[in-house]
Amino acid sequence: MSRSASVIVAGAGALGLSAALALADAGCSVTLSDPGDRGCASAVAAGMLAPVFEAALEPEIAGHLDLLLAARNLWPALAGRAGIDLDRSGTAAVGSQAWLADIGARLTRLGLRGADLPRRLLDELAPGLAPDLEGLLLREDWRLESRPALKALRQAAQAAGVEFRDAAVRERGAADWLVIATGADQSLAGLSPELAGLTPIKGQILNFSDVRGGRVSLRGEGCYAAPGSEGLAVGATMEPGLTDTKPDMVALAPLVTAAGRMFPGLAQATFGVSAGVRAATADGLPMVGRSLTPGVILAVGARRNGWLLAPLAAGIVTACAMGRDAGPYAARLEPGRFEAGR
Ligand SMILES: Cc1cc2nc3c(=O)[nH]c(=O)nc-3n(C[C@H](O)[C@H](O)[C@H](O)COP(=O)(O)OP(=O)(O)OC[C@H]3O[C@@H](n4cnc5c(N)ncnc54)[C@H](O)[C@@H]3O)c2cc1C
Repeated sequence: MSRSASVIVAGAGALGLSAALALADAGCSVTLSDPGDRGCASAVAAGMLAPVFEAALEPEIAGHLDLLLAARNLWPALAGRAGIDLDRSGTAAVGSQAWLADIGARLTRLGLRGADLPRRLLDELAPGLAPDLEGLLLREDWRLESRPALKALRQAAQAAGVEFRDAAVRERGAADWLVIATGADQSLAGLSPELAGLTPIKGQILNFSDVRGGRVSLRGEGCYAAPGSEGLAVGATMEPGLTDTKPDMVALAPLVTAAGRMFPGLAQATFGVSAGVRAATADGLPMVGRSLTPGVILAVGARRNGWLLAPLAAGIVTACAMGRDAGPYAARLEPGRFEAGR
């Protein structure tokens, strides 16, 4: 009988934990290492699993709705496996008539259509919403709460036999594979040169812990709002090139204004700020698959969609380690795609 592959996973964010769990479930012997002090974007994220609004609003990934939907469709199985609560009630676009008409046109281009929300229903779903805003409900975009989800993934991985270490990974050592899922961190770029192609994008999010915020996630002009057990999260800034996680009220000012425009009551409310650093590739999709460095598999660069893409990335990582077909979306995520033409 052949022995199971030994794998070190570097990074305990959404991508590393999901990959570690999938690898252990596939029979690999898995060690997950994370020093825990380098910032973890996954713990800051709003947890939107938003294939449709991301494809509609983000030009980089507009052409990849099929891939984003495929990733989202893997979530019920992963959530069931790890005991993660998945909110599948949908997401409402809320805004002026003109903005919603633009959203409607974008959805039409994607072959989709939202359901108009009568004001009475909008008030039930999002109490306190500005009275002049209108709404459109889309069932396709879901949500989870990122911190409880990280905890659940960790517990499921532990129960599946993954060994955890509180240390930074520096090399593959004697393991068959090293999976690099280190987010925006560049410390392993010497080992895997593809990491040098990642751009950091700082993201700040407002946390209104005293505000419940309604029953569905909202997308508005200049912000989104996600209600949860820790209050209402309103995000998020996109600050390319920045790697710090310090609150910056100047950069946050447009977000604060947009939040007050969506929910006038928020203009007076106190809020906390969390910040994380996303990693982005040049084409908006992550690098998932074998590195040019033998024995190394990458799962990095998920930009604004690390939670959404985590189960798809985990499946591809596992297929690479097991020498199996990585499925129909692996070619678009190949780390080597940026090497052609260099
Ligand atoms: C404000 C904000 C809002 C967001 N909202 C959403 C959202 O709604 N939906 C969504 O899908 N995505 C969202 N994202 C994006 C998402 O958070 C990221 O794409 C995702 O978390 C990336 O996960 P990751 O596992 O790649 O990296 P991270 O979560 O950053 O984890 C990387 C881990 O690697 C560890 N590490 C670093 N170096 C080493 C080393 N040498 N050895 C071992 N470990 C190491 C770090 O300590 C860290 O724990 C948001 C991001 C931000 C900042």
